[in-house]
Formats: sequence, structure tokens, C-alpha cells
Amino acid sequence: MAFLIDCPNCGRRNPYEFRFGGECKEAPGPDADLNTWCEYLYFNENMSGFQQEWWYHNMGCGDWVKVRRNTVTHEITED
Ligand SMILES: [Zn+2]
Repeated sequence: MAFLIDCPNCGRRNPYEFRFGGECKEAPGPDADLNTWCEYLYFNENMSGFQQEWWYHNMGCGDWVKVRRNTVTHEITED
């Protein structure tokens, strides 16, 4: 991978220090029905282009980082 992830605690780091956490999306409420939870947990947009993602810095500070990444080119931008 030819991109770096900007961790607010550790600075720009190699993506191999992180674990991909999936697309950013709003979680359903605690009283949502089973179908809503299944859709939230198992169905992703898998879009081509920029999307908001969660990355976990497991070999660094241990924080979750929100990243806007192009799924085709891996370009990372600030919003
Ligand atoms: Zn970090």
C-alpha cells in the first residue's frame, strides 16, 4: 500500500500498523429490529471512490481513527 494514515496521536503512519474497521455509518438505535441490525452489520456500500472509514491503530496508540479514503487509488483527504 502506498498511502499513510494520519493518526491524531502518533502522526503519519504506515497502514500496516492499523486494522481496517469498515465503513463509517450510523448505528441503529438499541430498540431497532433484527433486520435493521443485520443490514447495519453485514451489508456495506462497497462504493468506488471516496468513503469515510474507521481504522484501528492496533500497533500504535490503540485509538480509532476516522479516515476519508478513495477505495480505488487509496488517496486520503481531509473531508
Ligand atoms: Zn496512533
